[in-house]
Amino acid sequence: MFIKRRHLVACAFAVLTALVLGFLAVNRYFHQLRFDTREQLERSLLDTASLNVEQFQSAIDFHIQFLESLSSQMTNQTDPASLIDLFDPLLDMHFAKQIGYAAPNGDAYLSGGLRANVAGQDFFQQSIHGSPFLSEAIRAPQGEEVYVHSLPVYAGEKTEITGVMFVVYDVPAFTNALQVDTYDGRVNSWLLRSDGYVVSVFHSNHLKPGMNMFQDFMRTNPTVNASAIETLRRCIAEGDSTIATISDGEKSYFINLTEIANVPGGDRLFLATTIATSILGKRIQPLLDGANTLILTIVILMLACAVIFIMTYLKQRRELFRLAYTCPLTRIDNYLSFKEKMRAGVELNGSGFVVSTDLRSFSTINNAFGAAKGDELLYALAKILKSHEGSGELAAHVSCDSFVLFLHAADRDDLIRRIRLIRSDILDLSPLLDLPQLVPQFGICAVESTDSPEQAYGNATLAMQSLRERVDFFYSFFDDNIRNQTLEAQLLEGEFEQALAGRQFEMWYQPKFSPSTGEVVAAEALVRWRRPDGTLVSPGKFIPLFERNGMIAHLDEYTFDAVCAQQRTWMNHGLAVVPVSVNVSRVSLYFPNITGRYMIVMNRHGISTDHVELEITEGAIENNMEVENIINIFHSCGFHILVDDFGSGYSSLATLTKKCFDNIKIDKSLVDCIGTPEGESLLESIMQLSHKFNMTVTAEGVEHTQQRDFLIIHACDNVQGYYYSEPLPAAEFSVLLNKRAS
Ligand code: C2E
Ligand code: CA
Ligand code: CA
Repeated sequence: MFIKRRHLVACAFAVLTALVLGFLAVNRYFHQLRFDTREQLERSLLDTASLNVEQFQSAIDFHIQFLESLSSQMTNQTDPASLIDLFDPLLDMHFAKQIGYAAPNGDAYLSGGLRANVAGQDFFQQSIHGSPFLSEAIRAPQGEEVYVHSLPVYAGEKTEITGVMFVVYDVPAFTNALQVDTYDGRVNSWLLRSDGYVVSVFHSNHLKPGMNMFQDFMRTNPTVNASAIETLRRCIAEGDSTIATISDGEKSYFINLTEIANVPGGDRLFLATTIATSILGKRIQPLLDGANTLILTIVILMLACAVIFIMTYLKQRRELFRLAYTCPLTRIDNYLSFKEKMRAGVELNGSGFVVSTDLRSFSTINNAFGAAKGDELLYALAKILKSHEGSGELAAHVSCDSFVLFLHAADRDDLIRRIRLIRSDILDLSPLLDLPQLVPQFGICAVESTDSPEQAYGNATLAMQSLRERVDFFYSFFDDNIRNQTLEAQLLEGEFEQALAGRQFEMWYQPKFSPSTGEVVAAEALVRWRRPDGTLVSPGKFIPLFERNGMIAHLDEYTFDAVCAQQRTWMNHGLAVVPVSVNVSRVSLYFPNITGRYMIVMNRHGISTDHVELEITEGAIENNMEVENIINIFHSCGFHILVDDFGSGYSSLATLTKKCFDNIKIDKSLVDCIGTPEGESLLESIMQLSHKFNMTVTAEGVEHTQQRDFLIIHACDNVQGYYYSEPLPAAEFSVLLNKRAS
């Protein structure tokens, strides 16, 4: 009744697979997202870098134009001092500190009327020899850092250099003037030379003009930066632009170097632009948060789905189990449930007793009072059995009126006490349901938890069946005696085929007499099993067994054949044979083409239906048109049909009206009623009615003179019983026939 382990595993596997696939998909998505965002960031870094370079270049161009316009104004005639004074007001506009003109000997005129000799300065030396020049940061006489931008001044057609025009910029002012965008400090940028020397810093947390960028990076984080520096150096050498990742010891950055074109002077200049890689994370973070929420939602939804699935599954299984393990009529557990529970040992554990129970008279009640009443009785029975069910016990419905109980009890006496209580409740049902006295019977088998449920129920049922002939007991324990009977039955069952082939079955004949004349008028053939050791087994032991397993059909045909053969032999010996009746069991009538086969046998021995008759119990045709048809065929073939055991159980007077019967054999139990007024009047009526419907009457089991006298008086046609003769072996019976002939 529990969810099977493999179903849970499958469910967990499905959920896990879905989760793993979900995570893989999300992971893949983030990988792609990070890649895209990085690409985007790198692109914007390149954009920023190129924008900055453009700005920087236009600023430089602006300064160069300024300087060029200054230098073009300077001719041989111009008075340098007055020209410089003239340009003084333009200084602020160009963020310049000073303008100066140096004669070829280095004597310089500076704005504000200052004089100095710059012959030893790099810018002068470069420009006096024809090169425009932008110095690196140099320290001015006043102590502050400055850049100097210089151009040669030509005379006439640019053939002769007559001096050097220069502008001095404050480093911070110059930097501002270049207007490189640092995006609120998020982007760092600085100017450097190809050897890494930092010329100017627009924004950096630690780099200062005059430091060497490569050396600084190698110092701060050699392991991370070594390969980046190598990449950057290669790009500088090859004139490429790329993006590398460097670290300043605290943070890491994407860095780009872009060369600035048209830089006056000798050295190449590069603009470095960096952006913190953490921005990448910052950009992804909101997406990451969103996705985390999404994953969480998906996981919760999946778990909820799994829980709903498992709950629904369990509910459906419970319902299926309920249907599979409950009897719809009695609403209690069925036999399957009993077996499962006992086998699982979960509820019915430990040692106990399996009790098989049914009602001796149930089929009569069902037939006489109808199926609805029968169902009502079964329901009430189940309710009583259930009400006696304690913890760790079970009451289950097997089939029809058969129930099985699993009970615990301290010992046998305790169990019998409980069974008495159950029986007493069942007996109380008769007045309650307006039914005749019920006869419940109980077979008991002591069990251990390891015993097979089928075996235990089978043993308990055998014990119950042993009560069939007993009216004085209502319970029986499965014991060695019953076990031996069962073993014997199994033995007989196993030997049947061999016995049949070895012709171990022999026919005995019980004569039937005319009560008035005392003459033998007929006989009944009764089978005996003579074992190889010479012992005889009575049919009471093996007939019911073979009826249960269907072997009886073969035996019946065998006995019919044996009787026909015997009649033929006796006839051949000139004996005055009498009709011999052969018993045909109910099971045989279901076998295909029984009529045809019996006719063939009879014809083979060359005898007629005057010599063999058929005894069929009344119960065999009850409510079965198919069987009734077969009997009709036998009858129309000329067979005399004798109703066996009339009055023993299921008898109904309606049988007497059936045209296919020729003779009624009144059962011994009714014959035994001779002597009681009720019994005698019943017998009288039966005989009268039978005669009225043109049937002869045979009384079975006649044992006493009183019975004989009654039967003679009431014109019973035939009598059969120990009073006259027991069943006789063929040889002894032939002596009787002989006498008859003489
Ligand atoms: P049945 O057909 O009712 O046969 C009568 C039984 O009553 C026989 O028992 C017979 O020996 C016994 N009997 C006859 N007169 C008396 C009497 O005065 N007092 C008592 N107490 N018993 C008497 P048997 O031979 O043991 O047969 C038992 C049953 O086995 C038969 O009952 C019949 O149902 C069945 N049977 C016997 N032979 C065959 C057979 O060849 N085929 C089939 N299908 N069943 C057979
Ligand atoms: Ca019989
Ligand atoms: Ca009989």
